[in-house]
Amino acid sequence: MWKYDPKSANADEFINHEEIMDTLAYADSHKADTVLLREILDKAKERKGLSHREASVLLACEDGEINEEIYRLAKQMKEDFYGNRIVLFAPLYLSNYCVNGCTYCPYHAVNKHMPRKKLTREQVRQEVIALQDMGHKRLAIEAGEDPVHNPIEYILECINTIYGIHHKNGAIRRVNVNIAATTVENYRKLKEAEIGTYILFQETYHKESYLELHPTGPKHDYNYHTEAMDRAMAGGIDDVGCGVLFGLDKYRYEFAGLLMHAEHLESVFGVGPHTISVPRLRDADDIDSGTFTNGIDDDTFAKIVACIRIAVPYTGMIVSTRENQKTREKVLQLGISQISGGSRTSVGGYVAPEPEDLRSEQFDVMDNRTLDEVVCWLMELGYVPSFCTACYRQGRTGDRFMSLCKSGEIQNCCHPNALMTLKEYLMDYASPHTKIIGDALIQAELKNIPKEQVRNIVVNHLSEIEAGQRDFRF
Ligand code: SAM
Repeated sequence: MWKYDPKSANADEFINHEEIMDTLAYADSHKADTVLLREILDKAKERKGLSHREASVLLACEDGEINEEIYRLAKQMKEDFYGNRIVLFAPLYLSNYCVNGCTYCPYHAVNKHMPRKKLTREQVRQEVIALQDMGHKRLAIEAGEDPVHNPIEYILECINTIYGIHHKNGAIRRVNVNIAATTVENYRKLKEAEIGTYILFQETYHKESYLELHPTGPKHDYNYHTEAMDRAMAGGIDDVGCGVLFGLDKYRYEFAGLLMHAEHLESVFGVGPHTISVPRLRDADDIDSGTFTNGIDDDTFAKIVACIRIAVPYTGMIVSTRENQKTREKVLQLGISQISGGSRTSVGGYVAPEPEDLRSEQFDVMDNRTLDEVVCWLMELGYVPSFCTACYRQGRTGDRFMSLCKSGEIQNCCHPNALMTLKEYLMDYASPHTKIIGDALIQAELKNIPKEQVRNIVVNHLSEIEAGQRDFRF
C-alpha cells in the first residue's frame, strides 16, 4: 500500500487513494459539526487557503446557514482577489486525430464515423484571422493525441503560425496549450515556443475508474498522466492548469484529489496551479452523457466552484461554453475568473460551419452567443471583460504572479490592463451598442485604480488607443 506524501514524485503517493477515502469519511462525520465548520470558515477568512481535508468538510456540509456563509465568503474573496474583471479566451481545435480510447470523448480512436481533420498551416491562419476578427487575443489550442498526425513539431509549428499572424489590429498574444501528457523535453520545447499556460485535465483522480475510462492508448497510463504537471514544471513551464471532468467519478473524490494535486505542486515547486478548470461532461457525437452515473446538478456545481475559490484563493478558475448562460452567470460571482466566448469545438469551425454529415465537434456547446454578446452581457452584469495577456509577456509567471496577487498590487496592474484591452476591443470589434456601454464602463472604472499616477498613465493610453495605437500594458 502507498503512503500519502504530498512531496512525493509518485502519483500514488501525492494523490493517495487511502488519504482521499479517509478525507471523505472525516468530512462525512464532521459535516454537521458547526463548531468545526465555523473554525474552518474563520481560517478561510484569513485568505491563506484551506487543506483538502478542511475544504472537503465545507463541501460536504448540508447546513443551509453555513452554506450561505460559504457562498458569501467565496463572493467576497472573488471580489478581493480578482475584482470585477473576467478574462476572455477561445479554444482553437487543431486536430481531432487521436489514438486513445477515452470512453467519454467522441475523438476516441474507435469512433470510425467521425471525420478526422487536422488544420494545415493555411487553415490555422484562416481560423486565427476569424478569431482575431471577433476580438480574441488569447487562445487555448486543443488537439487529440496522435504521435503520427499531431507530433510535438506540428503543435510547435501551429503555435509559431498563430503568434505570427497580425491581421488589421488583431494579434493573438497568449497561446495556452491543452494537449496530452508528454515528456520533459517536449514541455521544454513548448516553453521555448512561449506558451502561456499548459493545461491538462486529470479527467478523474480515481485510479481504478481512470483505467476503465481510458482502456487503450498512451493515456491509459494513469501515473504518466497524473505526473505530467511535474514534468511540465521540470521543463520550465511554471503556469499549469489543472481540472477534472465532472461526471466521470464521484465529485467529492475529485474535489479532494484536485486540491491534493494543488498542494503537491505548491509543496514541491513552491507554486500551485495557475488555473483550475471545472468542465462537466456533455453529450457529443456518439457520447451520451446520460449513461455516466456521476453527473452533478447545478447547485452542486456552484458549491464546488465556491469551495475551490475559498480553498485556493490565488488560483484562477475557468468555465467554458460547456455551461449555459444561466449557470455561467451564477458561477461568475462565486469564483470564476476566465470564460470562453464565441467558441467552436470543431476542427476548422471558426471559418465555416460544418455540414451536418461531417461534424467534428468535441462536445455540444451550451452557450452559443457571439463574443460581442458575451462581452455586452458581462458588462451589463457589472463585470469588466478583459483581453489582457500582460502577465506572462512581462515575465510574471509562476511564483512571481502569485506574489503580485498576494500583495494586492494586482489592482494597479490587472485592472488598468483590463480597461486598456477592453478599449481596444471596443475600438476594433464591438457593435455600436456594446461600444456605448463599454466606454461608459471604462470611465466609471478609472476611479477604481488606486494610484493616481497609474490612473493618469491609463487615461493617456486610452487616448492613444483612440488615436490608433495598440498593445499598452503594465
Ligand atoms: N487530448 C488531450 C488530452 O488528452 O488531454 C487534449 C484534451 S481535449 C481536446 C480537452 C478536454 O475535453 C479533455 O481533457 C476532456 O476533459 C474534455 N472532454 C472530452 N470529452 C468531453 C465531453 N464529452 N464533454 C465535455 N468535455 C469533454
